[in-house]
Amino acid sequence: MPAARIDLDHNATTPVHPEVAEAVARVLRDVSGNPSSRHARGAAARAELEAARERVAALVGFRAGEIVFTSGATEANNAALFGALAGEGAAHLVTSAVEHPSVLEPAARLERSGVKVTRVVVDAEGRLDPEAVAAALTRETRLLSLIWANNETGVIQPLAEIAAGAAARGVPVHADATQALGKIPVDGARLGLACLSGSAHKLNGPKGIGFLALREGTSFEPLLLGGSQERRRRGGTENVAGAVGLGVAAELARRELDARACRQRALRDRLWAGIRARVPDVRCNAPLAQALPNTLSVELRGAAGDVLVEALDLEGVCASSGAACASGSVDPSHVLLAMGRTPAQARATLRFSVGLGVDEAQIDRVLELLPGLVARVRAMAGEEAR
Ligand code: PMP
Repeated sequence: MPAARIDLDHNATTPVHPEVAEAVARVLRDVSGNPSSRHARGAAARAELEAARERVAALVGFRAGEIVFTSGATEANNAALFGALAGEGAAHLVTSAVEHPSVLEPAARLERSGVKVTRVVVDAEGRLDPEAVAAALTRETRLLSLIWANNETGVIQPLAEIAAGAAARGVPVHADATQALGKIPVDGARLGLACLSGSAHKLNGPKGIGFLALREGTSFEPLLLGGSQERRRRGGTENVAGAVGLGVAAELARRELDARACRQRALRDRLWAGIRARVPDVRCNAPLAQALPNTLSVELRGAAGDVLVEALDLEGVCASSGAACASGSVDPSHVLLAMGRTPAQARATLRFSVGLGVDEAQIDRVLELLPGLVARVRAMAGEEAR
């Protein structure tokens, strides 16, 4: 039997928790109604959906009625931006240079349609300065949309200070909390957020289901029209099994948050200590004290990250590079470029992200493999340069 693969790519997606899989299977098998139907079969589906909504709300500090189920965080981010900026009149959006493409691209489309967009820059550690964010807000700003924790570097933004600055100026805040959920405490009420996006598959839930938490009274134009579902905030028959899976995943994440974070931080720190001790010319892209407990983004000078990802894959290890493969060409990460890295530095990046199922023996196996692989990839680059 081949050895089990070592999954150090949990920021890309996570394995489904057995309790989640069980709940999804139960709903697919036993709950076939349409939640909008006014008969018993519909009511049973409705009850499942509303119980799931309660669980999601409890994870993020919103009320159940404020949770709008979506197909994932991409849709939730699109809905948050277009929902806030759809109307007439002068409009201004403030966001950052290190957002996920599901915020960057809607922002670019809004800009093409006449919305003024300000993209606040980050420092070399990937952090936003709350004062610089506050200074970008004007009387015309309809939304401040920021990623809470970065998917590539794990950097956590000082969102509480930023949200306080926005509240003082009356600007609604949208947080893309997709990577933060289940890893650090997220309390939308305490921060006074207007809306927040999340996705089940980053949280040991199923793919294709997520949510936009939308504070009551927030001005919002739905993205999907054509049905009165989700209190007219998102048309379309609901993904009941997916929502139930998300609900169970949210409940587990909330209950186990501290234990998971503690365990994952220990694994991540073990990995970094081992890499630092065994591989020359490495640096961490983010200060670990200000990053998600599960994420390690390292620059391995002169070693192509995408080649290393392939080499690790052949050894049964999943990791990710600091680059996005777009239409065959490898573009350096916009996040690392925004932090002032050169394209060559950005391409020499590996991202490891741990999660449920990863253990110390797996980390140690990766530490055995990595020095040899890095040396080989560096030597290849040296030969090509000659
Ligand atoms: N935002 C962030 C920060 C993400 O990491 C991701 C997933 N890579 C998304 C949004 C999009 O989530 P989904 O896959 O659910 O569309």
